[in-house]
Amino acid sequence: MFNLKNKVAVVTGGRQGMGRTHALILAKAGAKVVVSDISKEDCQKVVDEIEKQGQEAIAVKCDVLKKDNIDKMIKETLKRFNRIDILVNNAGIVQFAPFLELTEKDWDKMIDINLKGYFLCAQRAAKEMIKQKSGAIVNIASIAMGQVGIGFNGLVHYCATKGGITAMTEAMALDLAPYNIRVNAIAPGMIDTPMVNSIKQDPKAMEGTLARIPLRRAGRPEEVSSAVLFLSSDESSYITGATLTVDGGWLAG
Ligand code: NAP
Repeated sequence: MFNLKNKVAVVTGGRQGMGRTHALILAKAGAKVVVSDISKEDCQKVVDEIEKQGQEAIAVKCDVLKKDNIDKMIKETLKRFNRIDILVNNAGIVQFAPFLELTEKDWDKMIDINLKGYFLCAQRAAKEMIKQKSGAIVNIASIAMGQVGIGFNGLVHYCATKGGITAMTEAMALDLAPYNIRVNAIAPGMIDTPMVNSIKQDPKAMEGTLARIPLRRAGRPEEVSSAVLFLSSDESSYITGATLTVDGGWLAG
């Protein structure tokens, strides 16, 4: 099960946090992996880890704010590995800002990275996947996606992007189904990565957050990567347009 031999995977935002563990787990399952992020140097460290595991990977600089970077990432993938089977749209930012103080600049930046970046990467990758009539795109959303019975104050722009990702995932799944390209999303709860450092450093915020999670702990990045592996593999061959929550029971609570 979960054999990705002869498959090629691209992971955005792969230098640290969940992107790093997505890259490691996909490589462990046999995929050749393209680790991309703003810092190529840090991606190379992940590539070194993958090579130590005995698998193949390359590091590619890609700022998802820049369309030419995305194009270059796909071109470098094809040059080295000839195909692209899996895209994990993972690169993202978070920023806390009370709604009334949220600036247009911060709104635009959030939308451009977390939403437009996902669109541009998925469209560019899908244009290659179409040629081989197969592919899997996994979009990392969040339980902050809305319509799930919980809300997050101070995160209006972040929530807008994550809700946008789940809606976009459904629509993309319909457009790409005729080409046998599946598109799914994952909605993580609180996962222990550098992104949540500010919450971890605030004992009160941490206590309040853990109280809302039935498993009473933050998730480990690799616990989300297992879901990425499932949705990237043929074991999920009849799943498309879905959003899978990986949240320690938060939404059930
Ligand atoms: P992380 O450790 O901060 O990793 C995100 C990565 O994306 C970082 O390496 C970041 O680089 C990179 N990135 C930011 N802007 C980029 C851009 N324009 N182009 C390319 N890469 C860019 O956070 P994480 O927790 O692993 O987050 C991964 C994904 O999971 C995100 O989409 C996030 O919204 C989502 N998520 C996280 C949680 C959580 O609790 N951690 C929960 C739900 C969803 P820099 O560090 O240089 O900015």
